[in-house]
Amino acid sequence: MNAPEAVPEDARTLADTHTVVNVSRDLVDYNLYAQDAALQEAVGREGARWAHDALTAFGRTIGTADYLELGALANRHPPELDTHDRFGHRVDLVRFHPAYHTLMRTAIEHGLHASPWSEPKPGAHVARAAHTYLHTQVEAGHGCPITMTFAAVPSLRTTPALAAVWEPKITARVYDPRNVPDGRKAGVTIGMAMTEKQGGSDVRANTTRAFPVGADGGDAYELVGHKFFVSAPMCDAFLVLAQAPGGLSCFLLPRWRPDGTKNPLQVLRLKRKMGNVSNASSETELRGALAWRVGEEGRGVRTIIEMVSMTRFDCMVGSTAGQRAALAQALHHCTIRAAFGQVLNRQPLMRNVLADLALETEGALTLTMRVARALGHRSDAHEDHLVRLVTAIGKYWICKRTPNHAYEAMECIGGSGVMEDGERVAQLVRRLLDEPLLPGERVVEAGEHGVEGVRQLAQLVGRAVQGDAT
Ligand SMILES: Cc1cc2nc3c(=O)[nH]c(=O)nc-3n(C[C@H](O)[C@H](O)[C@H](O)COP(=O)(O)OP(=O)(O)OC[C@H]3O[C@@H](n4cnc5c(N)ncnc54)[C@H](O)[C@@H]3O)c2cc1C
Repeated sequence: MNAPEAVPEDARTLADTHTVVNVSRDLVDYNLYAQDAALQEAVGREGARWAHDALTAFGRTIGTADYLELGALANRHPPELDTHDRFGHRVDLVRFHPAYHTLMRTAIEHGLHASPWSEPKPGAHVARAAHTYLHTQVEAGHGCPITMTFAAVPSLRTTPALAAVWEPKITARVYDPRNVPDGRKAGVTIGMAMTEKQGGSDVRANTTRAFPVGADGGDAYELVGHKFFVSAPMCDAFLVLAQAPGGLSCFLLPRWRPDGTKNPLQVLRLKRKMGNVSNASSETELRGALAWRVGEEGRGVRTIIEMVSMTRFDCMVGSTAGQRAALAQALHHCTIRAAFGQVLNRQPLMRNVLADLALETEGALTLTMRVARALGHRSDAHEDHLVRLVTAIGKYWICKRTPNHAYEAMECIGGSGVMEDGERVAQLVRRLLDEPLLPGERVVEAGEHGVEGVRQLAQLVGRAVQGDAT
């Protein structure tokens, strides 16, 4: 059909149905640190005022529209597994979206994986926690290997000979995602493999066996068995629990053997997770995989608990960051959107909800940053108790509350909050649901401390209520 010669300027003919007004816009191009008064106060209060300039610069860098988009991209394109290359060689290669690698590189180049170990000083844990809290608001999945790499160091230090070899590469600010032996890398990442099908949180039920292979009765073993959850399977090495002749023990298991051959920690498949899509979690089998013992034989739980404890702390940081991300979206939306004659944040009931969300976020942040300070003073018995008790209970409480918090924020945004291409709150709700289940979930956290732990915590809380909040 021929086009009409002249287009009449009649709205009906043009199908000009409506004007788009009273809608939100993307929350981009803002400084995540500069607009977070509670964070700035916490950083100063807990002893890391010196990090203010670095955090301001970091907040600006990661708050640009392009950078924030990396978080969405990394979660829209899930990782893929190649067990073999096209010639038939076993490779166990997980391919990630480039956005994921950019997030990893930024995290490592800013020391989120290691700065308190490589540059220890007063407030180092606080500064690192603040950076992590900001970066997690952009994307949380990449935080899994960053956390595990950070958390592995205290466990590894129980065996100085291994730490001397591995710690310099663990703490280096170099991200090298290539699937090549660690000997060819200047920087490495570390994962954790405890959980088995039949045991789960009760790791004493683990059946993976460790056979000593050192001719001199040394620290080398070969591991045979399986691990049902191995997140970030592209890590260069893993802390693994297995049954040695002397009982359940902890091992450091590299991806590649020192002779350059593939160490048979074989990835069977990637899990289909409901949240945290950007980062892979896998099911694996160990077919005589070489590993070195960390700590003493039979003391595996004691050794790996150092790592688990640090991952719990990062769960506090990660969930608190989730609260902040959800709150920021809700506040932003409710500043723009009007309903029933007023901008939403002027409606009395909505103000109540927003204030509740803000209070809870700031409470979680206050507790988390207080623990961060204590992490830097563990030679002080009081601070050490605070880390041991409050990390377990704080992780339990904050991670448990956060999905509800995100859900409430979603409701503030209304129907658009539920959409996957919306204000990222739907993704947050899904992602945050799995945090309570990460290593060290509720009974383990509570049970580890038992009656004595609860008594000590009650004393701490009592002192805080009486005004001695140190
Ligand atoms: C996204 C994701 C990533 C993970 N990545 C890793 C990883 O990299 N490495 C790794 O080793 N593991 C990983 N895990 C596994 C995680 O550590 C386990 O899921 C967790 O330890 C619980 O084990 P389980 O799933 O077997 O549950 P179970 O141990 O079977 O527990 C099931 C439920 O029973 C409860 N329960 C257990 N004992 C008791 C009791 N005595 N009384 C009352 N209730 C009890 C638990 O709290 C839990 O709620 C990951 C999990 C998730 C969700």
